[in-house]
Amino acid sequence: MPPAKRIVATDDRAPLRRRLRRNRLAAICVVGAAVVAVASLVFTNGCDGRKKTQAGAAGKVAAASEPSSEFASLSASSASASTASLAVDIGRGRFVWPTPLPVTAETPWEKIVQASASGDPSTGLFGTARNSGGRFHEGLDIRPHSRNRRREPTDVVRAAIAGVVAHVAPTPNGAYGRYVVLSHSEEGLSFYTLYAHLSAVDSGLKAGAAVEAGDKLGVMGRSDGAGGFSKERAHLHFEMGLRISPNFGQWYARKQKEFGAPNRHGLWNGYNLYGCDPLPFVREGLRTGATPSLLAQIRREPTAVTVLVNSRSVPAFVLENPALLTAPAPKNIGGWKIDFAWHGMPLSFTPLGTPPVTGRATMEVQMTRDAALQRKARVRRVLAQKRDGGLVAGETLTNVVTLLFE
Ligand SMILES: [Zn+2]
Repeated sequence: MPPAKRIVATDDRAPLRRRLRRNRLAAICVVGAAVVAVASLVFTNGCDGRKKTQAGAAGKVAAASEPSSEFASLSASSASASTASLAVDIGRGRFVWPTPLPVTAETPWEKIVQASASGDPSTGLFGTARNSGGRFHEGLDIRPHSRNRRREPTDVVRAAIAGVVAHVAPTPNGAYGRYVVLSHSEEGLSFYTLYAHLSAVDSGLKAGAAVEAGDKLGVMGRSDGAGGFSKERAHLHFEMGLRISPNFGQWYARKQKEFGAPNRHGLWNGYNLYGCDPLPFVREGLRTGATPSLLAQIRREPTAVTVLVNSRSVPAFVLENPALLTAPAPKNIGGWKIDFAWHGMPLSFTPLGTPPVTGRATMEVQMTRDAALQRKARVRRVLAQKRDGGLVAGETLTNVVTLLFE
């Protein structure tokens, strides 16, 4: 099952919020200042002369400086650095395949994955579109190795690498079902691994506790937000990626009406988690037996979209992931150049001394000309297609940019 983030169109036209917030920048040698940051998205690709709010943006329509651009505005402010540290740096440890399935680095992926209801094995991989392209799969679905007499899987699920328990959801009340999130700190990145659809969570697991690679987290299952899916499709949804904002709660509170459900998972709600392909990561782990380098994987990702932002604030995300900074922050930050992967994960942050966007708009989106990347970005709603065939920022990109400056 794909715990894809539900994308819901919105017509939120709340007034622009102007907020002052203190910003401490311990990690990158800038002492923060109170900042008012109000940003507008400028979509530079496409010329139909219309202006409209972009679905998913929390803001109101801003005046256009070029008649051909589409605009949406969003409020943005600096995030508190007080919750910057997600996990202690546990150093390079072992890698352990998270289930009993006998797997080596050479095992074909078809023998690892569990297909969705369509029966197509590729649906168990990261990035595949399900429901005729309507849903994006953000993890790797690992098939069961053993089942009991009732055909339920009995595979024990284990931590793939050492980390800290970030979140335990022992009650299935969302797309992930019962799930466990571990946080890890490596090479200047704070990232998570996530183990979902469990039939049981280990009773000893408590948020904040350290775990070693191979420690038991629970048992594979088929739990989801409803009554669970079929036994035949039981699997472990293994996901990994970056958590976007420590201020997620207030972002969600503004959007709760459109989401239609309270946030039951705090900062570890799927809307705050941006995954990348686990397959290269686990293959490297199987090959070396050690914790793979997510940073190396991120640096291999091609840039699909670049967002220029006029903002004097430093996202807490940057403090939590200093390895993604391409240059030291100048004393006075005027804005940012942020590169994103086709699946919406931020790849790099370049601090700029002067605001990069001129005119009344304060944000600009530049997109790849690579047609294949564009297509994938559309599936993930990082980009969206207009009626005239042009592309604009999609809901996923709008959400992640909004969250970064929350
Ligand atoms: Zn899955």
